Amino acid sequence: MESSEIRELFPILNQKIHGYPLVYLDSAASAQKPIHVIEAVKHYYEWDHSNVHRGVHTLGMRATDAYEGARVKVARFLGATSEKEIIFTRGATSALNLVASSYARTVCRKGDEIVVSAMEHHSNLLPWQQAAKATGAVLKYIPLHPDGTFSIEDVEKSVTNRTKVVSVSHVSNVLGIANPVKQMAVIARKNGAVLVVDGAQSAPHIKVDVQELGCDFYAFSGHKMCGPTGVGALYGRKALLEQMEPIEFGGEMIDHVSLHNASWKELPWKFEGGTPIIAGAIGLGAAIDFLEQIGMNTIAEHDNQLTRYAVEQMERIEDLTMYGPKDGHLGLVTFNLGNIHAHDVATVLDTYGVAIRAGHHCCQLLMRHLSIGATARASFYLYNTEEEVDRFLLALQKTKEYFK
Ligand code: PLP
Repeated sequence: MESSEIRELFPILNQKIHGYPLVYLDSAASAQKPIHVIEAVKHYYEWDHSNVHRGVHTLGMRATDAYEGARVKVARFLGATSEKEIIFTRGATSALNLVASSYARTVCRKGDEIVVSAMEHHSNLLPWQQAAKATGAVLKYIPLHPDGTFSIEDVEKSVTNRTKVVSVSHVSNVLGIANPVKQMAVIARKNGAVLVVDGAQSAPHIKVDVQELGCDFYAFSGHKMCGPTGVGALYGRKALLEQMEPIEFGGEMIDHVSLHNASWKELPWKFEGGTPIIAGAIGLGAAIDFLEQIGMNTIAEHDNQLTRYAVEQMERIEDLTMYGPKDGHLGLVTFNLGNIHAHDVATVLDTYGVAIRAGHHCCQLLMRHLSIGATARASFYLYNTEEEVDRFLLALQKTKEYFK
């Protein structure tokens, strides 16, 4: 399917903004939804809605089947060994908080190390800061090169036998580079640590296989990969999840309750206290079906090709600075246009119907490392076309003229 045909499947894209056709280049923040996902959620509410796991009536069983069916799809999508290794969460942020609050707080003692990088999104940083404070562990940073990246040698030097957790983004939401997580998993294991992967920016774009990556935990958000907001998942190795305590207590997650104690359900339900994210999970399952039908390799190829095209054209724009290594930019490009503030660039682009992101992208440490306050970011996904990139480039030229 051509990207122009794929585009037709996303109703929201068929509109004008300030009189111009919408060019949506902010998918790294949140992707748009194809009709399949919208219909799946609508169908659930129109026909199957009920609470899950408890009802013996038909709707209860339909809702349970659809919810648990979505878990099977996520497990297959990530290459997990079992659906018991998939916990539905609100998104990558809550998935990472779950590991930091449960696993890290159980295994870390005073003087142990939690290793992260300053490239991390705040969602993969603050949970570890808090876990370090709570346990007395040392939060250690893999040193960054001037361009914001790190090498496997830097990881080798940072991880020691005191390290209990290493946590990094698979793909950076600012630099668009892929970190060497496969090699990092080997280093972590050699030192008796676990590797947590923040997959918020990789799951939408590339085929992920957690077995092949060798990671222990992998977190992602549904809304960045065409699914609904408010749903994501945590993959965790079964043996580790079994060892972990829940962090939310209440209905749905218990086995037996007595006056002063309670025991938990088996995996994965012990981590899903309260009525779960039923419609969200069903929508996420539909998003996975949709992405797999197109093919993750086809999507990766398309996104990379389009980003490469954008980068090549942007190199020709005088005064435009792009951040991150030239061979990075997996699906996104972060930049500044001369001395024009990134928010001004984004505001002018919006008047031409072009939606991009501006700010620190929840990566204040990386911004500080690169000595910049804010940047603009254009991100590309399966529904974007070369023609849209051209519109974006034209809008950039207009922005330059406007501020001349
Ligand atoms: N990690 C990375 C690399 C991200 O880009 C994002 C979102 O932008 C997150 C984590 C947090 O995702 P969410 O806000 O969906 O939980």
